[in-house]
Amino acid sequence: MNLKNNASFPAPGEADTVHFVDVNQDDCMRCGHCEGVCPTGAIARTLPATPWCVHHIPNPAACIACGQCLKGCPESAIRETVSFMDEIRGKLADPDTVTVAMPAPSIRYTLGEAFGDDVPRYEAGQMFAALRRLGFDKVWDVEFGADLTIMEEAAELLARIRGELDRPLPLLTSCCPGWVRFVETYHPALIPNLSTARSPAQMLGAIAKTRGAAQIGVSADRLYTVQIMPCIAKKFEGLRIENAKSGFRDIDATINTRELIQWLRDEAVNFDALPDEQADDPFRLSTGAATIFGATGGVMEAALRRVTEELDGKPLENVEFQSVRGTEGVREAEITAGGQTFKVAVVSGAINAGPVCAAIEAGTSPYAAVEVMACPGGCLNGGGQPIEKEHTT
Ligand code: SF4
Ligand code: SF4
Repeated sequence: MNLKNNASFPAPGEADTVHFVDVNQDDCMRCGHCEGVCPTGAIARTLPATPWCVHHIPNPAACIACGQCLKGCPESAIRETVSFMDEIRGKLADPDTVTVAMPAPSIRYTLGEAFGDDVPRYEAGQMFAALRRLGFDKVWDVEFGADLTIMEEAAELLARIRGELDRPLPLLTSCCPGWVRFVETYHPALIPNLSTARSPAQMLGAIAKTRGAAQIGVSADRLYTVQIMPCIAKKFEGLRIENAKSGFRDIDATINTRELIQWLRDEAVNFDALPDEQADDPFRLSTGAATIFGATGGVMEAALRRVTEELDGKPLENVEFQSVRGTEGVREAEITAGGQTFKVAVVSGAINAGPVCAAIEAGTSPYAAVEVMACPGGCLNGGGQPIEKEHTT
């Protein structure tokens, strides 16, 4: 197994003991904003006896690494603590290593903001070009993995609805690592409800180390996969011991949008002047269903397209499911297909997930499927995305 332990980041299996975010107590002004946005109560005041009631995260296992406290802290007192950057630079300089960049769906909408865009724009072509300018040998698109995830997740939902799979309803989406950790830590009775489908990046990582490596004629131990995510919790997910079924770590390193922006600035890459390029074969193409994964409701909408088509037994006439779009805390929708009607829910932010989880545990939930994204609004507002005050002027 290629499961390495490097002093700069935790070993696989030890991620539960690591603070992925932490408070610099010298900078904390005790405003309490972080407590208000934290979905778990992991961040708290120091003991009342302490004269300065600064905040801290006493138990890293209680933190789902959503990063919402970090994004909202007005003093920038909360920082990330795990960085793969030194190792990535070393691998890029190693002629024996084939480095692969794997950008998430939402990154292509938020990168440009740091380089002067007033509003988010779709800039996939420049994003692929930028990753090549940083020295990556291949760019394989996580949107390819998102299509795999949705085919698996939709098939599993259909099987659960039809009673063909001995697993409970509602099916809970599994692509957000902060949400998965929330279930595992705070609602473990619901683990059987989680979809068994891997997240898009883990789908792509696994297939990259097997089919991808074989297709480009490289042994898997020479392939180094770097996922570029909107997220801090993805660093945790990448280190999960389960995500190495091929015998190699499916994702070797994780950076987020903020780190990529800083890297591009350090290397003086002129993002705006880059041409539109494409990702590399064999993981270049994807569908519109993969693109919408980045927003709350997107995973549910993608799943419903597949499930309703299958239940109706004919091609979809309208692929848009407006009823699951929006950023309310909990949004419900009623879906009719194949002569049956079922309810689904979309939860925007883990902070709104508690009552939904409690209803499922009590057996009173009316839903067949529930999507939860730990960050309000989904990955576009992820804990690793640009923070307004960081924008370039
Ligand atoms: S939001 Fe920042 S400054 Fe305010 S209490 Fe939390 S850590 Fe301290
Ligand atoms: S990262 Fe998320 S779960 Fe952890 S302390 Fe911050 S807000 Fe709470």
